[in-house]
Amino acid sequence: MVGHRWSQASHELKTFLSRNHVPYQWLELERDDEARRLADLAGAGVTDLPLVIVPDAEPLRAPSTLTLAEALGLRTRAEQPLYDLCIVGAGPAGLAAAVYAASEGLRAVVVEKEAPGGQAGQSASIQNYLGFPKGLSGADLARRATAQASRFGAEMLLARDVVGIETRGPVRAVRFAGSDDIEARAVLISSGVSYRRLQGPGLEELAGRGVFYGSSAGEAVQCQGDDVYVVGAANSAGQAALNFARYAKRVVMLVRGARLEDSMSMYLVAQIQATDNIEVRLGASVVAARGTEHLEAISIATGAGSLEEASTNWLFVYIGAQPRTDWLGDAVVRDGHGFIVTGNDLLASSNLRAWPLARTPYALESSVPGVFAAGDVRLDSMKRVASAVGEGAMTVYLVHRYLASM
Ligand SMILES: Cc1cc2nc3c(=O)[nH]c(=O)nc-3n(C[C@H](O)[C@H](O)[C@H](O)COP(=O)(O)OP(=O)(O)OC[C@H]3O[C@@H](n4cnc5c(N)ncnc54)[C@H](O)[C@@H]3O)c2cc1C
Repeated sequence: MVGHRWSQASHELKTFLSRNHVPYQWLELERDDEARRLADLAGAGVTDLPLVIVPDAEPLRAPSTLTLAEALGLRTRAEQPLYDLCIVGAGPAGLAAAVYAASEGLRAVVVEKEAPGGQAGQSASIQNYLGFPKGLSGADLARRATAQASRFGAEMLLARDVVGIETRGPVRAVRFAGSDDIEARAVLISSGVSYRRLQGPGLEELAGRGVFYGSSAGEAVQCQGDDVYVVGAANSAGQAALNFARYAKRVVMLVRGARLEDSMSMYLVAQIQATDNIEVRLGASVVAARGTEHLEAISIATGAGSLEEASTNWLFVYIGAQPRTDWLGDAVVRDGHGFIVTGNDLLASSNLRAWPLARTPYALESSVPGVFAAGDVRLDSMKRVASAVGEGAMTVYLVHRYLASM
């Protein structure tokens, strides 16, 4: 792949390839003669970048992830006209549902926009998942779960963005960007959460060019010898700080609250305190970013009311999980923050009108019979790998009951 170092499009494609375990070589136009030679050879102008050169095909010019996935021979289209279960999102909840559904004889398909593993796939080391006393990396968990789901016969479609859901009599249809869709007798929404964007001058403009939301473990190596700033105080921020500390000269954690222990597991707090090149700054938040081509400096507001500027090329943000449910519109009942309401919570008076059947909803069922929600996207979920996996597996039991009741 040939492109500019600080390009958002290059960053997205590199993330897509590495998270889907596709080996690639990255050549930077700013630093590499070979990059310039290849770009000239392909006659690539500014709008053609990043340029992706794949074996035995024309170079891809600024491709979408879907075009790239198709060129690489990854599966992007459904093979069957009707499935028993369509799973939206291949994080731990979706992958667990795929394993249990396929292993119990349901025709299952998983649709994933980015890469299997979801948020967990970005973790350098998950240390609290049952059965792995020394921890395991998110990439490893994702790879193993994907292999397990495929072995049982679940289909996995990649680089497909689900944009809507429809009821067609007893069938549910999951719509993709474009005109395509998939029909299934039941649907699981396991689209998880993403991080809230920081507000302030320069922050949006520099997103993907030094300001990053979440990060995959593999990105830490790019920060070799640099100063890295991490915003947030939950376990995800703590893990990221520890991972960056292996490569960066210094990692500064900016925490709005007064204590790390209020929101982070004690085992992570202890590891952070024992790491020499991590500095924790309490009562601090980022209010602005500055840079021309890429991030050069951030402004930090401190509890004392003062403002200070810090030079850095790297800001990683892990705050305020927001459910990835905008694509659902009014199709299912969500709470004020967008989390999907399921089971008994649908029987609260404000939601009761939306439930159409005489029977009560199953535990993880949404306001549309046969459409379930599991993992972080569900109202009142625990936001952990183990609970997402548990809910994904439990959904399959409920889908069996739902199909039997029809
Ligand atoms: C860096 C990091 C470290 C963490 N460490 C730990 C830990 O050590 N222990 C722990 O228990 N928890 C940890 N967590 C939390 C844990 O990863 C989550 O609770 C868990 O991944 C939730 O799983 P999920 O399947 O519900 O959703 P997600 O993991 O969020 O997966 C959702 C998937 O759905 C896909 N998707 C979303 N919208 C669409 C759409 N419209 N179309 C198609 N696909 C879509 C996404 O691309 C994503 O792959 C960590 C989280 C992060 C970010």
